[in-house]
Amino acid sequence: MARIGFIGLGNMGLPMAQNLIKAGHQVEGVDVNPASVEKLKAAGGTGVETAKVAAARADVVITMLPSGKEVRDIYLGVNGIVENANPGTLLIDCSTIDVETARAVAREAETHDLLMIDAPVSGGVGGASGGTLTFMVGGPTQAFVRAQSILEKMGKTIVHAGGAGNGQAAKICNNMILGISMIAVSEAFVLAEKLGLEHQKLFDIASKSSGQCWSLTSYCPVPGPVPTSPANRDYQPGFTAAMMLKDLKLSQEAAKAAGARTELGADATKLYSHYVESGEAGRDFSGIIRFMRG
Ligand code: NAD
Repeated sequence: MARIGFIGLGNMGLPMAQNLIKAGHQVEGVDVNPASVEKLKAAGGTGVETAKVAAARADVVITMLPSGKEVRDIYLGVNGIVENANPGTLLIDCSTIDVETARAVAREAETHDLLMIDAPVSGGVGGASGGTLTFMVGGPTQAFVRAQSILEKMGKTIVHAGGAGNGQAAKICNNMILGISMIAVSEAFVLAEKLGLEHQKLFDIASKSSGQCWSLTSYCPVPGPVPTSPANRDYQPGFTAAMMLKDLKLSQEAAKAAGARTELGADATKLYSHYVESGEAGRDFSGIIRFMRG
């Protein structure tokens, strides 16, 4: 069993770390919030003071941090992981961040003889707790193969998407589809309301027609047709509008850098910005339908 340094024990990181402990790994956690470290200890892990200490002791280091800034600091900063991990250590960054930072950190790790993958996830807090996350992995095959047995303890679907940064590329492309499709489904329901077409009738027809998509059939933005969707509980998250906006902004940064035309992605980013600015950052992203009704 591996000694794993786990940095970032928030909504996602803590349950992921708990699943590694359940699988018999020795998990040493780091978080700027002491309460999160205490929760890890209660689950059978241990706490260490700094990322530097965790990295120097670990066979594997996993990070689950808010954004690219924290990832860059923790890996490349003074007392960072890259300087302090032993050669051959496996580094797994599960945070959702920009492709450029993921690639910069991976390049630096490689020069220190460290094996690194970016492995952002889909599946939310439920998937993290249940060990059913989807991992989208970028990095060298050797690192991917070594990471598989660890990732399998936290997720069900693990896909190697290519070289460094390609996990992040897959994540932001997927979430750009999701943001756009949620707006499309919401617009259709708002139009149906104006035309006197019942929600359930539109659902029954579109879910069996060419308008069918995940935002409609698994996460319907109106109450009723899909009992598990956040629309049935006043749009409590779920996946917050703030998180959707973060991922859409990442997609637009990447599109700009790569010279890709993503006009609907840009419109979706604007709409989610307005929704978040209207005070609904913490609401589920499917609540945008209420904003669109005006
Ligand atoms: P979170 O804010 O709950 O957790 C982040 C944790 O990192 C916090 O506990 C924070 O104290 C800690 N942290 C921040 N800076 C630190 C530092 N310098 N050193 C040590 N610890 C530090 O966020 P989350 O919801 O767990 O999300 C984590 C990542 O996963 C994000 O990149 C997010 O986009 C991605 N993600 C989240 C979800 C979701 O549904 N929550 C789904 C998929 C992906």
